[in-house]
Order: sequence, then C-alpha cells, then structure tokens
Amino acid sequence: MNEGAPLAGRPSAIAGPVARLIEAFHKLPGIGPKSAQRLTYHLLRAPESEARSLAQAVLELKEKIVLCSVCQNVTEADPCGICSDPQRDRASICVVEEPLDILALERAGGYRGLYHVLHGVISPMDGVGPEDLKLDELMARLGNGSVEELIMATNPNLEGEATAMYVSRLVSPMGVRVTRLARGLPVGADLEYADDLTLARALENRQEV
Ligand SMILES: [Zn+2]
Repeated sequence: MNEGAPLAGRPSAIAGPVARLIEAFHKLPGIGPKSAQRLTYHLLRAPESEARSLAQAVLELKEKIVLCSVCQNVTEADPCGICSDPQRDRASICVVEEPLDILALERAGGYRGLYHVLHGVISPMDGVGPEDLKLDELMARLGNGSVEELIMATNPNLEGEATAMYVSRLVSPMGVRVTRLARGLPVGADLEYADDLTLARALENRQEV
C-alpha cells in the first residue's frame, strides 16, 4: 500500500482492488459488509503467500471439482470416494438436498450406505420443479434392483417434505422401500446445522413414508 497517497478528496477513500475484494466477499452467503471489510483488510496485512494460496484454492475449486456421475456429490475423482468404497452398503441410498448435507451425515456417523444429492428441492415459489433436480440420475441408479431402501433426508420444512413425497411416489412402482428421517430434527431447520447426535438418532429412527 502506498502510505503517502492522499486519500482525502477522492470520492471514495477505498482503493479499487480493495473495494472489489470487499464486494466479492460481500456476495458470499453469511458475509455482511463489516465481515467483508475485515476479511479484505486481513488479507491486505497478511503475507503474500497466504493471499496466493487462498486465490489458488478458489481457482482449483472451479478447475478440479466435478460432480460424481453416480451420486452427484462434489468430488475430485469420479466416481467419488464414497461411491467407490467397497465397504459401503449398496442396498441403501440416502437422498439429500446439497453436498454439505453429506458432510453433516458423515460427521454424525453410523450411516454406511450410499448417497444421492438432488442439488435442490421442489419449490414452486422459487420456480424449481422436479426437472431441475438430479432425479433422472437417481432413477437410473434404481434400475438394476440392487437398491432396497431410499432414505429421504431432505430438510424438515415444506419444500423438503414435498420433495420427499414426490420422490416416494416416483419410486413406489419400483418396489423400493422409502423412509424419512425421524422427527426430532427442528422443523424448518437445515440438516447442515443439526447437531451430530440429533442427526444420528433421526437416521436411526427413520420411518416409512
Ligand atoms: Zn459418488
């Protein structure tokens, strides 16, 4: 930073690159204007290597991460680590809204089956219909008859319930058992934020849809 540069008198006291990074951080979920400023000024003071490794990590996220062609989770290798793990139970698929939900369920522990990420929920208000979700990919996995149970782990809110019902109707002709996470998860809450014990219990005590 050029300490001697006169900042007063300019329409904005913030240099262009600083303002642009603040703006970029501010666009991220959960980052308000104050946090965006703090992060930016932190990087400004940090060693160049720290800034470079952050920039590199962001780029690699876009360059190296793909969707697993089986479960649609984000992965560096396709199929992903879970789908290619011979120890996982192939008779059970846990259907979630977002990749982060898999992290939450894996952290909670206890589940040894496979997953499927829908990448959203049916939400007419937001213009999201069944065709916008990874449902064809899910149906394709049920074709060979090896899957016995679908655990609908969509969030316990209106859209999550509607999506679970929709999938349940969709797969019922295929003779696959469909279950839903047990109540006990706070209604309206995000799976992602549920504590591990609650999540593990909800999974253990799942009920038929
Ligand atoms: Zn996978």
